[in-house]
Formats: sequence, C-alpha cells, structure tokens
Amino acid sequence: MALAPNSVLRERQFASDNWAPMCPEAWEAMAQANQQHQPGYGDDVWTTRAADLIRQVFETPCEVYFVFNGTAANALSLSAMCQSYHSILCHQTAHIETDECGAPEFFSNGTKILLLPGDHGKLTPEVIEAAATRRSDIHFPKPRVVSITQATELGTVYSVPEVRAIADCARKRGLHLHMDGARLANALAGLGVAPRALTWEAGVDVLSLGGTKNGGGIGEAVVFFKRELAFEFEHRCKQAGQLASKMRFLTAPWVGMLTDGAWLKHARHANRMAQLLEKELEAVPGVKLLQPRQANAVFVQLPPTAVQMMHERGWRFYTFIGDGGCRLMCSWDTQANDVQAFVADLKQTLAT
Ligand SMILES: *Cc1c(COP(=O)(O)O)cnc(C)c1O
Repeated sequence: MALAPNSVLRERQFASDNWAPMCPEAWEAMAQANQQHQPGYGDDVWTTRAADLIRQVFETPCEVYFVFNGTAANALSLSAMCQSYHSILCHQTAHIETDECGAPEFFSNGTKILLLPGDHGKLTPEVIEAAATRRSDIHFPKPRVVSITQATELGTVYSVPEVRAIADCARKRGLHLHMDGARLANALAGLGVAPRALTWEAGVDVLSLGGTKNGGGIGEAVVFFKRELAFEFEHRCKQAGQLASKMRFLTAPWVGMLTDGAWLKHARHANRMAQLLEKELEAVPGVKLLQPRQANAVFVQLPPTAVQMMHERGWRFYTFIGDGGCRLMCSWDTQANDVQAFVADLKQTLAT
C-alpha cells in the first residue's frame, strides 16, 4: 500500500486482522516447538496434537490437514469435491471469487464458480435452490458444491438455523456444503454456540478453518467432517506446494490457541472491540453504518474527503471490500483506546 511520506502510522490499525501480530499463546507454543529434532512433513508431535485438538474442539472424528494459507485451504478442499465440469455456488462477494486470483478454478482444473446474490453477504436456500435447479442439461456446468463464508466478507454471521437450512437444501440437490471459516472463531464468539453446532451438526461437510486472522502466524486447517472427501487429499496438498517440511511451525500455534480456548477468547475480544467501534460511530453525524455488525468488522460509509484525511492522519483501512464503503476490522489485540483515538480523529476530520 502506498504511504504518504512522513505519515505517522498507528501502532495498531483497522485494516485487517492479518495486520496483527501473533497472540502470546501461539508465539509461546512456537518457542516450545523450536527445540530438539522432530520428524518433518507432519509426522511430529505438534501436528498430531493440533489435529487431535481440532477433533476435540469439534467433538467428532474428522480428517485434518494443515496448509499455508486460506486460499490453499479453499482451493484444494473445493477441488477435492469437484470434477472440472462441475460448478461451485457461492455469494458474489465470496473470497473464493473475489480474492483468490482464480485458485479454486485453477486447482480444480476448471470448475466454474457461479455467483449468487443475497443481502449482507449471505446466501439463502431460495437462491441456492433456484441456481441448482435452473438448468439440468448437459451444456451447463453441473452444480456440485455450495460454499458459504462464516463470518461473511461483510462481517455478518449465519445463524445455526440458517446454516442448517442451507445444508438441507444442498443435500436435497446432491450438493456438498463447504464453509470458508477464515473467521469462524469470530462467528462462534458472536453467536455463543458450540463449534459442532455451527459446522457438522448443521450439515457442513468440509471446513476451511482460519487460524491466521484469529492470532496465528501462518497456516490454516482443512477439516473434512465428511471423511471420504479427504481421499488422497495429502497428494493434492503436496502437489500444490502446501506440504510444509517443518510442519511443526505451522501446527504448534494451533496447539497454543486451541488449548484452554484462547482462540475463542481472542475472537470474543475482537468482536467486543468492533461492537464498541460500532456504538461510537453510530453517534457520529455523517457516518452511515452499512451492515449489521455481527463479528469483528464494522462497515461504514464516510465522505471521500474524510477517508483521505484519516489516511493522512496515519490510519489504515480498506475501502474496496464487499459492496463498498470502509471496512474497519478489529483484531485480538485491538485496544479500546485505539477505537477512541480513531473515533476522535474522525470527528475532527468531519468537523473540518
Ligand atoms: C483472509 C481470508 C481467507 C484466507 O486468505 P489467505 O490470504 O489466502 O490466507 C479466506 N477467506 C476469507 C473470507 C478471508 O477473509
């Protein structure tokens, strides 16, 4: 991102939760993993523990793989479910469509992504049903997967009944259900429900589980609740350059975050900071909230001059995500005084 010379950057920003450092629990586990020799390629104790902790947290047997990032988690898990002549149904703002440079299509050798509308970044059974039944002839890429994002790209959250209704619709049409859970922890914290309730119990077959934005450093997990879909998945990971040689450094942070619930503690905190930011912004004339805040993001409309002036004051946030407006993203380390400083600067900016 181009910075104005001499601009004073803030210590913590609202640009993205991937701007934050690693949380202490993840960092500490990394330090502990940085001792002695351990087998490579995932045959180490940290990887075993991380996978076991994921099974424990979701309270079910499932197949777990670790990859370097969310694009790989999504693209490889989707390609495991699709042939090249299939299609994937997702919301038009979905990360797999707008932010992965065509990786799902590439790794699936051409599976087509079909974009669906929906308020607040969410799909409904109705739009899925319409898309899945619109064509059944040989000329159309056959729908095979529904992919939903939790929390969504617009900072909203699917409730348990909403996920279940989508899963029921998908199952009726012979479609698998994939969840892009880059911010699943924030969704869980927002709803206050058990991980199992929002995923496999509600009908999710495969989950891309985010660790980075939650407080990790590198690496996301792919969780196959429908275990047969993981057939030969390790080969897919290796071929795609996603098998870490010193795997323990991808997986130790998961052990740190999942032991004793640090992942949910951090997500709750990020959500609370977003809630505070929303409350403060609601009271500022000239600021329009664009989406219901249900996780750790606040979307607002600001006058273009205010955006420019806030950038000059050293604040960084994105203006190109979702349906437009400014996205203000809170992280595990966002402090209440960051929120207050931002809002104070914004009020001054709007008054000039
Ligand atoms: C950040 C993010 C990802 C993962 O992106 P990578 O940069 O590839 O790690 C996936 N889905 C959503 C919704 C995200 O916000």
